[in-house]
Amino acid sequence: MTREEKQTQLAQIAQKIQGCKNCPLWQGSTNGVPGEGDPDARIMFIGEGPGFNEDRLGRPFVGQAGKLLDRLLDTISVRRQNVFIANVVKHRPPANRDPLPDEITACGQYLDEQINIIAPKIIVTLGRFSMNKFFPGEYISRTHGLARYVNFADRKIIVIPMYHPAAALRNGAVMLQLQGDFQKIPTLLGEVSRLSEKTEVLNNEQLSLSL
Ligand code: URA
Repeated sequence: MTREEKQTQLAQIAQKIQGCKNCPLWQGSTNGVPGEGDPDARIMFIGEGPGFNEDRLGRPFVGQAGKLLDRLLDTISVRRQNVFIANVVKHRPPANRDPLPDEITACGQYLDEQINIIAPKIIVTLGRFSMNKFFPGEYISRTHGLARYVNFADRKIIVIPMYHPAAALRNGAVMLQLQGDFQKIPTLLGEVSRLSEKTEVLNNEQLSLSL
C-alpha cells in the first residue's frame, strides 16, 4: 500500500470513529480520538484511552502523560511525527475510569484496522489494557520491557509492553522502569533494520536463482 493509500484509509477510520456509537462512551465525550502520526511508522504506541485534554482536542497524548511521552521520545532521538500514537478506546471514559471489556471489544476493530494499515515493525503498549490485547492475563510488573514477536494478522510484529506514562508520573520507581524500557527501543529498531536487509538479500538471491 502506498503512503497516500494508507493516509486515505486512516482518514476513513478516523471519520468512522467520530460517528461511532458501538459503545456508550461517545455520549460523554467531545471528540473521538482516533490517533495520529506517520502512516508508514515503524513504531506504533498504543495507550489506554483519551483523557480530558485529548477529548477536548481530539488528539492522543497531549496532556501531562503526553508531555512525558514526548520527553521519552527525545531521549532516544525519535520524533513524534515519525511514530503513530493510538489508544485502545477512542472516546474518553467518564472521569478517566478504566475502559470496560465491552468498550475495548467494541473499539477493537478500529485499532486492528489501524495496525493492519500502518503495518508497524514494533508496537509499544503503554499500560495494562493495551498489553492485554497482545498478552491476555499477563501482569505489567512482570512483562514490562520484555520484547516478543507476535503474529498479528499474518504479520510478525515485535511487541514490547511498557508502563503507562501516567503511572510513571505518580510513582518514581515506575518512572525509572519506563525510562529504562524506552532505551531498548533503539536496539529493537536496529534489529528490525538488520532483518529487513537480510530479507532483501534473500529476495535478491531468490531472484537470481529464478533467472
Ligand atoms: N492516556 C492514554 O492512555 N491515552 C491518551 O491519549 C492520553 C492519556
